[in-house]
Amino acid sequence: MKKIALLGSTGSIGTQTLEVIDENGCAEVETISVYSNIKLAEEQIRKYKPKLAAVMLEDKAKELKIKVADTSTKILCGKDGIISCAVHNNVDTVVTAVVGISGLLPTMEAIKAGKDIALANKETLVAGGCLVMPLAKQKGVKILPVDSEHSAIFQSCNGDSRSLKKILLTASGGPFLGKKRNEIYNMTPAQALKHPNWNMGAKVTIDSSTLMNKGLEVIEASHLFNIPLDRIEVVVHPESIIHSMVEYDDNSVIAQLSLPDMKLPISYALTYPERRYCGTKEANFFDISSLTFKKPDTEAFPCLSLAFYAQEVGGTMPAVLNGANEIAVSKFLNEKICFGEIPELINNVMSKHSAVQNPSLDDILKADMWAREAAEDCL
Ligand code: NDP
Ligand code: MG
Repeated sequence: MKKIALLGSTGSIGTQTLEVIDENGCAEVETISVYSNIKLAEEQIRKYKPKLAAVMLEDKAKELKIKVADTSTKILCGKDGIISCAVHNNVDTVVTAVVGISGLLPTMEAIKAGKDIALANKETLVAGGCLVMPLAKQKGVKILPVDSEHSAIFQSCNGDSRSLKKILLTASGGPFLGKKRNEIYNMTPAQALKHPNWNMGAKVTIDSSTLMNKGLEVIEASHLFNIPLDRIEVVVHPESIIHSMVEYDDNSVIAQLSLPDMKLPISYALTYPERRYCGTKEANFFDISSLTFKKPDTEAFPCLSLAFYAQEVGGTMPAVLNGANEIAVSKFLNEKICFGEIPELINNVMSKHSAVQNPSLDDILKADMWAREAAEDCL
């Protein structure tokens, strides 16, 4: 049984990780972290009895400490508290299920402490993959993908990506599939939050509607599987049954299929190389009946091309793409910019950045901060 730190325990991936554990008992929860949702954190503390719980916001941490004073869970706060949860002695695997760049530092510290990583937080690899992957190799720790596409690739190549010719990364296409740029320019947050196949946190749902999510996943895949961009192809597959495919030199294609349910990749990351039932329903192919495929429309969804471009430039540019996107998504959700302005803002910020090659962690964090400020200035 794994002993996990669950960073982002109150989110979509965090709560589904706990559902998987309830279903198949694959892990024990040693530590948890949240941003501010102390109501749910309290319930989780009472049910899972973690040794530590960290709350990002200090006043919320103080409140939680009083609420759970009758338990044995120690409450910590801020970034340092989250890192303490990640590196706790009892933990062997860190489930990184926080959103955005906030995953980077705790993941790096966990790797330094020799913990395996079950990684949902793609932004960590987008911004810092050039540091995270070599560090994991040096420390001999596993980075097990939780993102469904990357789990599918990992499953399809049996964990060994060395002989792949190509990755076929599938995309649902999001709620605006088939629409033209002018038709979606003024779409509202409520419209963009209606994902056809997946129920996820707000940030990744908006990223799915702009196809930035697929762009971030292309970068994530190139780091995880050590494969150049020209060998990653995005295939729009609206049914979300094939979660991605790999192609070999003989043109044989291997895919992983299931109903869309994040519990499956979460469970696989925690039980690998074994498999356990985790609550995902069986796929009935007679009900599904057809699987369809299209090329992505990068004119309507320029975020996908921006991500390819950022990774081609390399260095600090992917961190800038990610930082600018985080600001753009939050401004869109707060109705400060319209849907069509999301790629415009990111493009604007990227065009002002001179990428630093072979960046240090400090260079990446500075580039992220710079991108956020530059995005605010553009507005
Ligand atoms: P949610 O927004 O649902 O949850 C985010 C979690 O992280 C919450 O527990 C939240 O705490 C915490 N959190 C938010 N901001 C911070 C911060 N600045 N510092 C520390 N903790 C923070 O996100 P998801 O679960 O949807 O996504 C998590 C990650 O997994 C993302 O990187 C996403 O791209 C990836 N992913 C998600 C999928 C999904 O199906 N949801 C699928 C594939 C990948 P609080 O509740 O207190 O705010
Ligand atoms: Mg995904």
